[in-house]
Amino acid sequence: MYSRRKGRLLAMTALAIFLAAALQVEVSHSFSMAPPSGSSHAAAGTSTEECDVCIIGGGVSGLAAAIEIVSNSKKDTRVVLLEADSAVGGRVRSDVTEDGFILDRGFAVFIEQYPTAREILDYDGLELRRFLPGAKVKLRDRERLATVVDPLRERRAAIGTLTTPVAGVKDKARLLPLFATVLTKSIDDLFQMEETDSLSCLRERYGFSQDFVDAFFAPFLEGIYLVPLERQSSRMLHFVLKMIARGATSLPRGGMQAVSDQMSSNAESKGVEIKVSTKVLSIEQSGDRYSVTSESEDTSSRRINAKNVIIATDVGVAKNLLSRVEGLEGIGTLPDLSQRTVGCLYYAFKSPAPLLDPILLLNGEGPGRRSCKDFPVNNICFPSVVQDSYSPEGFELCSVSVLESALGSTEDGIDCEALDEAVRRQLAGWFPDFAADILDKSVWVNKGAYCIPNAQPSQFGSPNSANVFGGRPCDSFQGIGLPAGLLVCGDHTSTATLNGALASGVSAGRAVVDTRFGG
Ligand SMILES: Cc1cc2nc3c(=O)[nH]c(=O)nc-3n(C[C@H](O)[C@H](O)[C@H](O)COP(=O)(O)OP(=O)(O)OC[C@H]3O[C@@H](n4cnc5c(N)ncnc54)[C@H](O)[C@@H]3O)c2cc1C
Repeated sequence: MYSRRKGRLLAMTALAIFLAAALQVEVSHSFSMAPPSGSSHAAAGTSTEECDVCIIGGGVSGLAAAIEIVSNSKKDTRVVLLEADSAVGGRVRSDVTEDGFILDRGFAVFIEQYPTAREILDYDGLELRRFLPGAKVKLRDRERLATVVDPLRERRAAIGTLTTPVAGVKDKARLLPLFATVLTKSIDDLFQMEETDSLSCLRERYGFSQDFVDAFFAPFLEGIYLVPLERQSSRMLHFVLKMIARGATSLPRGGMQAVSDQMSSNAESKGVEIKVSTKVLSIEQSGDRYSVTSESEDTSSRRINAKNVIIATDVGVAKNLLSRVEGLEGIGTLPDLSQRTVGCLYYAFKSPAPLLDPILLLNGEGPGRRSCKDFPVNNICFPSVVQDSYSPEGFELCSVSVLESALGSTEDGIDCEALDEAVRRQLAGWFPDFAADILDKSVWVNKGAYCIPNAQPSQFGSPNSANVFGGRPCDSFQGIGLPAGLLVCGDHTSTATLNGALASGVSAGRAVVDTRFGG
């Protein structure tokens, strides 16, 4: 499972820490070295091609841009999408173990209410299964899990909510103005409200007690935005509460990867050429065209000349690529937009799960017993209880989210063995009837652990934070204008959500269509 070298494991490198012995992942490799028709060989190992639009990055923003362009342009428009990884999806990826467990690369949920997602995804095709609204909460010194449900949607459980020990009478009453705000205001209006940090918003604007904040809002919202409440935007707080109060959260049958797969199938069926395992190294401008140089898995290089280039990577890569374009060197001197790290551990075991409801379980034990070295868990869920495709028959899967503060990262990396043991101890305390199984590594088998260092860009308190619904203009990067034909999209230009990424991709695609094809 984990490396035996004193548990000192893999540094927080690019994507997953994949703990090899336990995990044999099937990753699709559609990498092909055959030169496409119309390409010419400039030198051995280097091919040069012409296309209309080159998109860099096959996360959901790049895929959305590609679909928008090919859906609104002439049939012979050539759109090429270059993706560095072995498959598309970016931060929306899943792995399937040899024995049939689906592991999303970090715990994520599909929020059905997202406006752009509703426009461009086929929900039926995703075969979504829903979480129960609300959450279970593990409170300090209480063995029984408490329940918080949304009384507006789960009327039968409303009595339970009123009697839940998570909130006192005053806090329950204060939920009304909060819900009234998010339900009656439009998304645009919510983003126009004065912005503050989420802790101040909850404590001062709505008057919630610190105990309720610690028990519910902190684990809930920190599990979404990956930083303490005082470093989260009140706009994002209102936005996500509106989305969750209005619609369901769910998991697709094929894991979160199904979202990316659906988009890439859609794009390819409309003619987009997707080249995976192709990492873009540089962009050069020459007249009104750009030359994009990339390196493939076997180190051969590819040059693509295009009139339009869309950079759809995370903010760090976008900054790096742009700052090396002649005339845009100033971008290199802009402050870095910080990115948040999150960890996720998966455990597989024989049915039944300790929690039989398809619901999120939050660590409401409060400071000192949440998101720290000895008590690393922020939230857990049993994805296979929500969507049975996540585990083979007769087995269940537990997903444990660990925030940056609890990963215990040092220069040597993360001590995964210590983390695993702390998680087991904590969960054994939560589920005493299952404690022996949870502590036994041959019964609750660690199927893998992920550490995602660029999980989300900062959404509050930094210049150009990702907290702008509708997105920033795609023809500039953090206020610096880009030359015609060079565009940028991705969650860092909008809100750091699936919806923000999709919306930013659609608007970059639209910009290309508008300028290139006359609207
Ligand atoms: C663990 C986790 C959980 C999340 N949970 C949720 C959630 O529940 N709800 C929600 O709304 N949002 C969630 N998010 C946020 C959401 O997933 C992201 O905001 C969104 O996927 C970002 O998409 P993107 O296209 O902007 O960027 P990315 O997904 O990062 O895509 C960028 C792509 O560019 C590629 N690339 C990078 N460099 C190069 C290069 N040089 N050449 C070619 N390609 C390159 C990358 O490999 C990647 O595929 C979560 C994120 C994480 C990490």
